[in-house]
Amino acid sequence: MRKDVLKIALDKVKAKHVQALKNADLAWEKALAIPEIAQNFDAYKTLEYDKIKAETFGIKSNLDKEIKSAKDAYLKSIEKYGFKESDFDVKYDCPKCHDSGVFNNETCDCVIKTYYDLLNESVSNSGSNSHTVDDFIVIDENDKKHLDFVKTVIDKFPTKKTLNFVFNGCTGVGKTFMASCIANGVSEKGYSVIFLSAFEIIQKCLKYHTLTLSEREGLLDDILECDLLVIDDLGTEAMLNNVTVEYLLLILSERIAHAKHTIITTNLSDDMINKRYGERFFSRLLSENYSSLKTIDGKDKRIKKSNAKTN
Ligand SMILES: [Zn+2]
Repeated sequence: MRKDVLKIALDKVKAKHVQALKNADLAWEKALAIPEIAQNFDAYKTLEYDKIKAETFGIKSNLDKEIKSAKDAYLKSIEKYGFKESDFDVKYDCPKCHDSGVFNNETCDCVIKTYYDLLNESVSNSGSNSHTVDDFIVIDENDKKHLDFVKTVIDKFPTKKTLNFVFNGCTGVGKTFMASCIANGVSEKGYSVIFLSAFEIIQKCLKYHTLTLSEREGLLDDILECDLLVIDDLGTEAMLNNVTVEYLLLILSERIAHAKHTIITTNLSDDMINKRYGERFFSRLLSENYSSLKTIDGKDKRIKKSNAKTN
């Protein structure tokens, strides 16, 4: 993982903790600024205090009834001014770590999720990987089949049965769109997802390849370790000696060895993949044991978002 991004993710989570406390304080201050609420609260708490004091000295107080009616008066007054008692509770985003970023002495999942969201942010901004199943418009049987397929993949993630999905078919049939819907659905379930074009991945690998050993540290970790990696548009990247095939093979082999899921979209047919990347890559990508090749045919996908990229 990248230390700099991880630190930003942790800071973001911690900022939520501070904000949650602030929000609760602010609501309480607002309520107490209303004299009627302040008086009723004071009366209720004074009675409670009297009860505790009496009990400390072993005296039976008989204050329960009075406390109850004072509490009722207080609750009625906050309601009268549009508050609920729960408005004054601190509401943390993460129920596990209460936005501290640490759970059971380990980095909490919410930090990891934020980390991957940050990594994906720049790609999402380009519009190509920001789709969800809600963007599907179902007009015919073909659309329905695709939508059902996408929903099933998300529901069943992470299934050991299929590690690699290859979506192929010509430009404009909705391969990227479907991969993007799955990526977002899986991310929403709390898994780490990276969505990159084949071009971007090879750029990263090239950078890695030309760095010294110590400079390389961690640079490819996210691509190797995330729960779901989407490689979009395989076949559009440059074929660089000692880089393209070698690193794609490394990435895929590592991910399969650790039972991590990969989706690849491509215009290439299986034969063309074999020809371009060779038998070793081909047999890992399209293994009978853990791969699924889905040829997406039919007309262009219609997508609600007007700025959407549709291939
Ligand atoms: Zn957390």
